[in-house]
Amino acid sequence: MKIFGSMGLSIGDRFETRAEIKSLGLHSQGQAGISGTKFEGADAIALSGGYPDDKDFGDYIMYTGEGGQVNGKQAFDQDPDSSGNAGLITSYVGGLPIRVFRGSRHRSPLSPTNGYAYAGLYTVTSFWQHLREDGFWVLQFRLDAQSPGAEPATTVAPDVSFATTTISRRVRDSGVAREVKRIYDYSCQLCDTRITGVESRPYAEGAHVRPMGRPHLGADSLENLLCLCANHHVQLDIGGLLIQNDLTLIGSNSGQIVGDLSFRKHHKLNMENVQYHRRLWIRA
Ligand SMILES: [Zn+2]
Repeated sequence: MKIFGSMGLSIGDRFETRAEIKSLGLHSQGQAGISGTKFEGADAIALSGGYPDDKDFGDYIMYTGEGGQVNGKQAFDQDPDSSGNAGLITSYVGGLPIRVFRGSRHRSPLSPTNGYAYAGLYTVTSFWQHLREDGFWVLQFRLDAQSPGAEPATTVAPDVSFATTTISRRVRDSGVAREVKRIYDYSCQLCDTRITGVESRPYAEGAHVRPMGRPHLGADSLENLLCLCANHHVQLDIGGLLIQNDLTLIGSNSGQIVGDLSFRKHHKLNMENVQYHRRLWIRA
């Protein structure tokens, strides 16, 4: 059973070897970068300099998935169903916190000069498949640092038989997002649901079709936004819904049509954003 969260670690805590990290139950693997399973998710990663595509910006990390290397060189495509990659995808869908360790061989000014250092808790905020120049497909994960104090004040001892998880969901609400919600009077463009809070205050979410964060860099514009209920926004963001060119939505697992998007006034989507979203979620 994996335990998610900081497990009492403080940022900067040092370890001499991967074996030490493993023996403390902080990362399940002695060598592989990702500690994870498809069913439970990934609870930890180690940055050890093994993949040239890794990029470390401190508060966010572009992390390459596992597999496909022979003698340190890419020789096969990476498999989204391998245990570690599938674990990171499960952590993305569930918003699970991931312990990050930087090793001395990881090429970053933030790396320790020897051994390993705990870098804090991160969450996977997007992932995609990337065609490298050498012709191999690899998985790329963007991990963002959780802000300090985001973790609930629970004490988790390594011997308890349950895990605590933190769901983190950031809904950007720019002026354009408010505009799309006004156009639809806070009704979901897919299911027409209109959620209200205290004293009938309406709630809807501005859903970006092409994600805004790096590396996707989708626009914060009406041509990239839908007004959706929270359920359908999440489903779009985790790849459960795909938008077809005729603006019907299909369930990515069933392949069945779920419904179609209704549009009002002059609002329409840029179809390049729709195609970008599909490419994110349909495997190469
Ligand atoms: Zn809806």
